[in-house]
Amino acid sequence: MTRHEYEMMIGLEVHVELLTRTKMFCRCSTRFGDPPNTNVCPVCLGLPGSLPRPNREAVRLAVRAALALNCQVNLSSRFDRKNYFYPDLPKGYQISQYDEPLATGGYIEIEEPRKRIRIRRLHIEEDAGKSMHAGDDITAASYSLVDFNRSGVPLIEIVSEPDMRSPEEARQYLEKLQRILQFARVSDVKMEEGSMRVDCNVSVRPKGSDVPGVPCELKNLSSFRAVVKALSYEFERQVGLLEKGEKVVRETRHWDESKEVTAVLRAKETSEDYRYFPDPDLPRLELSPEFVDEVRNSMPELPDQIVSRYVENMGLPRYDANVLTSSPALAEFFDKCVELGAEPKTASNWIMGDLLGYMKAKGIPYEKIPLEPRSLVEMLVLIKDGVISGKIAKDILVKMIETGKDPRTIVKEEGLEQISDEESLARVVEQVIANNPSVVEEIKAGKEKAIAFLVGQVMKMTKGKANPAKVNIILKDKLTS
Ligand SMILES: [Zn+2]
Repeated sequence: MTRHEYEMMIGLEVHVELLTRTKMFCRCSTRFGDPPNTNVCPVCLGLPGSLPRPNREAVRLAVRAALALNCQVNLSSRFDRKNYFYPDLPKGYQISQYDEPLATGGYIEIEEPRKRIRIRRLHIEEDAGKSMHAGDDITAASYSLVDFNRSGVPLIEIVSEPDMRSPEEARQYLEKLQRILQFARVSDVKMEEGSMRVDCNVSVRPKGSDVPGVPCELKNLSSFRAVVKALSYEFERQVGLLEKGEKVVRETRHWDESKEVTAVLRAKETSEDYRYFPDPDLPRLELSPEFVDEVRNSMPELPDQIVSRYVENMGLPRYDANVLTSSPALAEFFDKCVELGAEPKTASNWIMGDLLGYMKAKGIPYEKIPLEPRSLVEMLVLIKDGVISGKIAKDILVKMIETGKDPRTIVKEEGLEQISDEESLARVVEQVIANNPSVVEEIKAGKEKAIAFLVGQVMKMTKGKANPAKVNIILKDKLTS
């Protein structure tokens, strides 16, 4: 059997921190980056005698995430204890949901190829604390430090079916999931801050087989790029084993970012290892249909809906619509521009081209657009009214960002008004004609394309301020008379 006769099955488990101000079962702050062990109390430190109380806002956000991912919300679900020992888990168990999760049976649609990735379940759990090991090598650390600020932060875990067939499909699924949760205002889903964490289950099997292969779990994936690389590596590794007639062992593997290999971390736990049982400290989680309806009715507009609004109502190309919905801030910025009177495609061109180009070059994230929609719209009006040329506008855009001034002020201060009055333009045109007798001869001999050269000369002499359309008319007029 050769390599192309194998296929991959990828299922993803994604943990996402919810955007609540306080923790899942106590009222400690969830703020990121505070000094270690300052946001703690008896509940999240697991001290004897303390009792958990669910955070209503966390439940609301989890339900919203479930609805945004097309899941069925179960009105009755249960909290269970997942038992394992680790220094950052003070109770010796994590409160999670096992066989009766909050939501089941959802899906996400990806574009290439267009297909649905099914979501098996979505459940609520609490985060563990964070261990820091002295030195770089875990096995050689002489001591470890534990920060419990993260202990008890509300999480949802979203488990997909093994429906993805390539690392690229997994990347699309993750990007779409991230986008949906961002627009639903459920989480800030930052991989680099750990508010979104991804584990992959990956197996290979001969193409056409309906027996799943033995899966391995991949951990420590800190970016989408790492996910793609680790999955590609793992495909080669598992196919290599099968080719040699060996077996894939069910295990948890760690992605080593610097060596770009996966290495075995431990044998894969099974659910029996965790000895799940219902948490006796917590009643069942019962939701009323009215509560779920209220969450559904207050759902923010989601990316797919916005894309179709842009394409169908505003006539934007699908490509533009996808770029403009890469972040809620960007979509809001664009919507505001249109609301203030900008023509949608013109606004989209300026945002996708010059504005995003500037932001990318300076490393400015999408959430921090350095410009007011009003300024961009005023600039578009100046172009439309012929006050400035499109070329000069590119410089004005950068000046607006860097000085915070509005476009009219910049135009006035720097004398950037477009020259449209025919008398002044005619004078420049005459000079250009006089300076370029050979080009004029060529044009008169029928080489019409050379006119563009003369227009360019006029623009140069006016430092880009001449109105090119008018220059064209005056030039043709002078050359034929
Ligand atoms: Zn606490």
